[in-house]
Amino acid sequence: MTKTIAIATPCKAACKSEGGICSGCFRTMDELSAWRLMEEEERDDKMEQLAGSITTHICPKCEEAAYCDISAGHDTCWCFELDKRDTSSIEQSDLCLCRKCLSTLPIE
Ligand SMILES: [Zn+2]
Repeated sequence: MTKTIAIATPCKAACKSEGGICSGCFRTMDELSAWRLMEEEERDDKMEQLAGSITTHICPKCEEAAYCDISAGHDTCWCFELDKRDTSSIEQSDLCLCRKCLSTLPIE
């Protein structure tokens, strides 16, 4: 069965890779390339994670909703795909930064 439905996307037509994460929609490059291949549910979940309506913790930097795949029970996290960031400017925490904060840190 083929359906021609528009695929939901958080893309703001401002896509630019910042060391592995898009500075426009904050998807990782892997998420971007896999987007069209994902199940609809998977995309919906991801959209809600990006929007902060599904959250695992609060970002220690901006105190906004953040999402960690590991905390959610997965083996890997979206942040593993990114170029390593220099986190020396922020207070050390066991909690991960949100996508937005992580994408603005300088690359090591
Ligand atoms: Zn943050």
